[in-house]
Amino acid sequence: METHLADFIRGTPEGSEAEAILRACVHCGFCTATCPTYQLLGDELDGPRGRIYLIKQVLEGGTPTAITAQHLDRCPTCRACETTCPSGVRYARLADIGRAVVERQVRRPWRVHLRRAGIRWLFSHPWRLRLALTLLRPLRPLLPARFAEKLPVHRRIPPQPAVRHLRRVLTLAGCVQSVATPATNAALTRVLGRLDCGTEPVAGCCGALAWHTGAQFEGRARMRTLIERVEGALTAGTEGFVVTASGCAAMISGYPDIFRNEPTWAERAQHVAAALRDPSDIIGPATEHWTGIGAGRRIAFHAPCTLQHALHRAGAVEAILTRAGYLLMPVPDAHLCCGSAGSYSLTEPEIAEALRARKLAALASGAPTLIATANVGCELHLAARASVPVRHWLELLEPWPAPE
Ligand code: SF4
Ligand code: SF4
Repeated sequence: METHLADFIRGTPEGSEAEAILRACVHCGFCTATCPTYQLLGDELDGPRGRIYLIKQVLEGGTPTAITAQHLDRCPTCRACETTCPSGVRYARLADIGRAVVERQVRRPWRVHLRRAGIRWLFSHPWRLRLALTLLRPLRPLLPARFAEKLPVHRRIPPQPAVRHLRRVLTLAGCVQSVATPATNAALTRVLGRLDCGTEPVAGCCGALAWHTGAQFEGRARMRTLIERVEGALTAGTEGFVVTASGCAAMISGYPDIFRNEPTWAERAQHVAAALRDPSDIIGPATEHWTGIGAGRRIAFHAPCTLQHALHRAGAVEAILTRAGYLLMPVPDAHLCCGSAGSYSLTEPEIAEALRARKLAALASGAPTLIATANVGCELHLAARASVPVRHWLELLEPWPAPE
């Protein structure tokens, strides 16, 4: 696509990167067919090709309007378009660059700023979220249904015995997951324990919540803190940095792009991203430890967009669960987003709800007894309306009925 960037960005590192991405797009529109918001809303500007045009206009000096921002906000950055694109267009990176420019030029209503700031204030600090849940859970019957359904159910986590292992990995304690679904990392510790591998949690937030709510400066600060902590904990014998929430893992895998123009941080971001492991990377080669644990139970796996389109692990978890003896029911349109997408379900609730309804219908089509997934956001978003339990897949590698 021919591009003539405006003076304010031409020749800058971001401008050069955006220009290369724009030039790679041949305007074929293949991506439109797999875009969830285009399927739902039917507007070219709510699909990848239209959004690429909007960003191009802005980078060429056009003045973005509230409508421009709205079309970009409606994109959950699921990256299905990247998987589909035959020209390798890096849409998400272009969207990051374009959104930062739009954010500086479009004045948003104060209530939008307030909502976004509230999301960051509450969810990026585990103690705040823990306190809020402790206060709100007893009030659940009195709360409006749309609000009450978002409160994760409290589940008791058995204490973890302290065991020394031969192998060692770091894990991300995380912010939302550590409070809302602590069973996930507890399951990881027990599951990896069977492989004589210990887990050492690293506290911190990957920065995704701030990054995706228009606060890129705050997001970078959180990312730098996490990079320092992971680097400080990585020793020669550590087998990697295992992240059980695919949304956080996808964010961390993008650190090299985000810091590529910051000399003191580029290499460190590379180092941490290179250490990143999905749990399936460690468990996949050793599935004999779980042979038969699924006992032929019918389940459906919801592959988060971050797992399949950003981390490129499509099929990895499904293969493990199948070898463990679960009967995985087919899920139509498995490439489509469920509407969770980090804070998206809070910032674009109507679209998120419509995407969830479609996803739950697809997941239910095989009549599973449980839905497994790989990301805390998807787990909570789907569980709020699903008719069967929704669990992180790691919990399914423990004796049934642990997931109940
Ligand atoms: S599929 Fe790729 S090349 Fe074609 S319009 Fe979409 S982004 Fe551009
Ligand atoms: S990231 Fe997802 S929602 Fe956004 S344009 Fe691409 S396919 Fe559509």
